[in-house]
Parts: sequence; structure tokens; C-alpha cells
Amino acid sequence: MTGLTDLGIAAIRKGVVDGEFSATEVATAFNAAVAEAQVALNAFIVTTPEKALEAAAKVDADRAAGKPLGTMAGVPIGMKDLFATHGVQTTAASKILEGFKPQYESTVSQKLWDAGAGMLGKLNLDQFAMGSSNETSAFGNVVSPWRRPNDTAPLAPGGSSGGSSTAVSARLAPAATGTDTGGSIRQPAAFTGISGIKPTYGRCSRWGVVAFASSLDQAGPMARDVTDCAIMLEAMAGFDPKDSTSLNLPVPEWTANLSGDMKGKKVGIPREYRLDGIDPDVAKTWDDGIAWLKDAGAEIVDISLPHTKYALPTYYIIAPAEASSNLARYDGVRYGLRDLPDGAGLQDMYAATRAAGFGPEVKRRIMIGTYVLSAGFYDAYYTQAQKVRALIARDFTEAFKLVDVILAPTAPSSAFALGEKSADPLEMYLNDVFSVPASLAGLPAMSVPAGLDRLGLPLGLQVIGKAFDEQGVLNASLALEQRAQFTARPAKWW
Ligand code: GLN
Repeated sequence: MTGLTDLGIAAIRKGVVDGEFSATEVATAFNAAVAEAQVALNAFIVTTPEKALEAAAKVDADRAAGKPLGTMAGVPIGMKDLFATHGVQTTAASKILEGFKPQYESTVSQKLWDAGAGMLGKLNLDQFAMGSSNETSAFGNVVSPWRRPNDTAPLAPGGSSGGSSTAVSARLAPAATGTDTGGSIRQPAAFTGISGIKPTYGRCSRWGVVAFASSLDQAGPMARDVTDCAIMLEAMAGFDPKDSTSLNLPVPEWTANLSGDMKGKKVGIPREYRLDGIDPDVAKTWDDGIAWLKDAGAEIVDISLPHTKYALPTYYIIAPAEASSNLARYDGVRYGLRDLPDGAGLQDMYAATRAAGFGPEVKRRIMIGTYVLSAGFYDAYYTQAQKVRALIARDFTEAFKLVDVILAPTAPSSAFALGEKSADPLEMYLNDVFSVPASLAGLPAMSVPAGLDRLGLPLGLQVIGKAFDEQGVLNASLALEQRAQFTARPAKWW
């Protein structure tokens, strides 16, 4: 049985349902791929081959008994280590949570298991999902399976969902969960030549997902193509009374309604995204995307999102502010690490635990967040950022009176080398320039692979949609996918 690890969600489920291969064979093949790549790529923090096999055995038994099979039946997936998994270490890639085994399961992961998926392991990420390269993980960075030609320099897999992007692109998993606060599904998907969608804020429950910035955090699927993303998102989404910001709406039939026909649709091209000094390959890929959507029948409309230039600074005030509050709970009392120096009091324990447990980027964000929320600076920074956030959201509302979806690049460049940007946080933050506006506005946005740049590395195109219109986003993305004909994949060196 060869080639099982080349299959995506739809093909695996179909093969299992048709009896072409068993779910156990699929899980075994992916478990082997995971084990083989672990040292070189470091995509997983823990692997759980037994969980993948256990879920597969259940699917095989259900099939033999003639029971109905779920939409993810027989599909082993990687789970970003930001989702609490019952009895399986959940760390957010931070030392402060090392050894933490939740006594509960996140809503999203539970829904995936209920749909018949199995777990290959917990995927590495930037610590507390703060980063764009995976270098802030306390468990060592993930290495992208992609390389520049004749160059063995390790490249960033994107972040924070870099374990997810690597696992899917290196064929260690047919799909993986991601979370996106300011681009962490879309940018790693773009860096590794895969697809990923961040749904409308509130579509996927945040219950049991380690919180970074609660008004922005949203889970979504990362997979090999648009159809697989639609299938997996349907399994992940849905109202959850345990999350007060969960959308109380039925989950649409995104997969059944997929169509790459863009006739009658208007696609907005935001002029503010055409930055001075934009990478020529990124600009060309964007132009290709415009031509493809035109070819699919869409009308192209020039639009303006005037507050775009304030999105990054706004994000880097609001996200750290919320993070500083969310991360206050890690105090050495309730979770994971406890550092209690001899003779120390409670305050000393808090300080020692947090000093030892949080990495430098997390500490930077806590300090920025605490500063912008402090009595003296709250109005100058936090209140101001909230106002600008409203203006950014209003830009989109106005634009969507004219167009159905917006097309933009996902990231300003292809994957950079590990170490290239880690010394300068501002340069790293600039990587999020095209992804944070949709996050601040809570809108669905997807990245699909669109081509290779001059270095032979993948570039992604981003489709941003109206709130609740994942279907429009998926359909425009499908139209792009059908025309991009992106078949490149990393040559195996691990
Ligand atoms: N790169 C962004 C950050 O560091 C986005 C992270 C995310 O979406 N989780 O905040």
C-alpha cells in the first residue's frame, strides 16, 4: 500500500468508506511518517500514535458493523498544542505548562473526534501562539520542509501554526488544526504551500483553547486543498454554550455548496495593500490571482480600506493587552510549572514561576500589554486602539457594500530563513501586515497556495469575506485553486 500519506481528507474518507484501505492502514502510514520526520522537522511536541490507531480501529469496527461513518472518518490529524486534550500534555509550547495534562477536551477537538478523526499528536507552535516563525517555542523551532535550491539553510514554517503547516505540507498529516489571532493560520499556510481558513470570529468555540487574545483568537483547519478545509471546518464549527462569544448559528453546508464559478461576483482589490516596495513576486502573484478570478467570471473592483496602515500598531496594542490579562492565570498555583525558591512567599513564587516559565517574546507582550492597560496610558494607547479597530472594521463594512470578497496577498514575502528576523521584533511583526486587518474586523479569511517565487518557495493568496460568509471565501479560494494548479511540494530531505 503506497501513497496513503499523499491523500487528503476527502480521499481518505472515501477510500475507507469504499473499503479500498482500512483506517488502521492510514493511521499506521501517517504514524510512520510522523516518526521518521520528528528529529529533522520537530513538528510535534508529543506524538500520540496510539490515539490515531485507537480512533482508526473504532472507524474500522463501525464500518464492519454497518454503522454510519462521520465526515472525518478514518482521517488522522495533527492537533495544534493550543487545544486542551484530555490526558494528553497541552503546553502552548511554553515551559510554564510543561507536564499539564488537562482533565477536559476542547470543544473543537472533541467535535473532530466525534466526526471520526484520530490524533497523531500535539503540534509545535510559537509560544502561546505569539510569533510568525515558530522560533518562540520553548520546545525548539519547527523546521519547514521547504528549502531554497542548493541551500540547506533551515526556513521558517511560518507561525504560530508552524507545526501544523509543516505536518500538512511534509505529508505527516492530511490536515491539522490551527488557530489564528493575527494570521497564524494564513501565514504558515502561505509559507508551506497549503490551504487554511480562519472563519468568522465565533464560528469555532474557543472553549478549551489556550487563550492568547480572546477578542481575536479563532480556530480553523489547515489542509491540502479548499475542499478538505471546507469538510474539516464543518466538523469544527458550531455553537457552544460554553463559549460566550460563540455564534449561535447553524453550521452551513459549505462542502456541498462549493463552487468555483464567480459569475456575478465582485472582487475588491484594496489599493492600500499595494505597499511601496512590495516584493515583485508577491505583486505578480496577486496580479495572477486577479486574472484567475476574472477568468472565473468575477468583476474586479478597485477598493479602498483607508485605515489599513493603522492595523499593525492597533493589533500590537490590543493583542498584548488581552494577552497580559489572559496570561495572569499562570502563577505557579494552578497549572504546570511551579518555582518555589527556599523560604519564598507567595509573591516570590509568582515571580519566580513566571520568570522561569515564560519565554522572552511572551514576557515582551505581557509588558507591552500591562503598559498599555496601565492607568496612565490606558486612554492614550488601549482606548485609542479600540477606536481605530472600529474604523478598520468600518472600512470593511463600507467595502463590502461594493464587493463580495476581497483579494490580497497573504504575507509580504515567502518563507524567510530561521534566525533572519528573530533579533528584531518589529521586523517580525511586519510579516502580519496583510493578515491582521481581517482579524481585527473578525472576518473570515483564507490563504491558498498560488505559485512559487524566484527562490522556488510558495506564495499564498488571501481571500477575505463578509462576516458569516465562509462560503464566499471558500468559493473564491476554489476558483483560485482551480486556476493556480499548484502542485509543487517540498522535496523530501528528512
Ligand atoms: N504573528 C502574529 C503574532 O505574533 C499572529 C499570531 C497568531 O495569529 N496567533 O501575534
